[in-house]
Amino acid sequence: MQLDGLRKTLHQVNKIRYRPVLLQKIARGYFRTLVLRKPTLRIVEFSINHACQSKCGYCYAAKFRRPGECMLDVDEIRDIWMQSAKMGAFGSLILGGEPTLHPNFMDIVATLEPRKNIVTFATNCITLSEKMIVELKRIGVFVIYVSINSTDPATNDRVRGYEGHHEHVMRVLDACKRHGIDVMLPITTSKELLPETIKLLDFAEEHDMTASIGLLSPTGRQEGQKQELFDQSFWADLRKLYDRNPGLRGDWDTNLTLKVGCPAGFEKIHISPYGHVTGCAIQPMSFGNLRDEPLSDVLVRMREFKHFAKRPKHCIVALDEEFIEDYLDHAIGEASTPYPVEENAYYGADCGRAGDCTRSVARTH
Ligand code: SF4
Repeated sequence: MQLDGLRKTLHQVNKIRYRPVLLQKIARGYFRTLVLRKPTLRIVEFSINHACQSKCGYCYAAKFRRPGECMLDVDEIRDIWMQSAKMGAFGSLILGGEPTLHPNFMDIVATLEPRKNIVTFATNCITLSEKMIVELKRIGVFVIYVSINSTDPATNDRVRGYEGHHEHVMRVLDACKRHGIDVMLPITTSKELLPETIKLLDFAEEHDMTASIGLLSPTGRQEGQKQELFDQSFWADLRKLYDRNPGLRGDWDTNLTLKVGCPAGFEKIHISPYGHVTGCAIQPMSFGNLRDEPLSDVLVRMREFKHFAKRPKHCIVALDEEFIEDYLDHAIGEASTPYPVEENAYYGADCGRAGDCTRSVARTH
């Protein structure tokens, strides 16, 4: 089981073996983590915009918009990436909204240095043209994440809130195949969606794609919706699904520690369109803004936070009821997310620094 993470991380080895700089960075990450026992950043998620053509019912980014504030520009993203790379990061995932709608999308991809790192992005495919695919390959991108929700076109388009979405996905899959770009299928699942998830896994295999699974969480457009929450028995069933599908991966099983667990704050961070740092794109609380302080300071705070420091063995936004009640539910009353974690009453007891968590009060349960 422990070697599963290594196997999944090196799944793309046929692509990265031609990239000596990237191989060196990956090797250094394992060395620092396993031999020196130093927490090492692995991946940074950048949400670069909130514009999107779809209206997905479960969108976690529904509250990212901050009217009147400026989103990060390309120079700021470059600076954040340089700080992250110094802390070990060799991977980045560009998210939105729909990132290809960003007017500087190609410049942002280029600034993350795709020839020396693993740079990918998640797209609904609607605006991703063949010309863009050719250019992405030229600058060093070798894998992209393509979102689809059902193998049935009508069901998929209804869930996405965009007629013709399925057709766009098929067009992009065909273009990627012709131009030698790998496609990863990210699947958001829940107890109810599990049968569809299994069909999507078959679809991925049929189209020569790898797949990754994320869990539906009560955040964004789903906030407060806990009827679909997971339990440990579902988690165990999911693990069996993983064991039967060696190409399948999840956020929690490509860790440099080689252990299954949530990477938030240690191996992975997410940057909001306005520079806030969260544990991942799904989590609605910010540990600081990189326009105000360096990443190294924010990471210290994140690594002291109780829910990250205990290195949970599962996805906390979908399975940890205490975390969900204390931190996800807090976002229900917020006009936009992420909200400053110091404003959460529970943070005072969870921040890991006795008496040094201003604006917080002691937890009540
Ligand atoms: S909570 Fe942890 S495991 Fe779940 S999506 Fe976020 S980073 Fe990944």
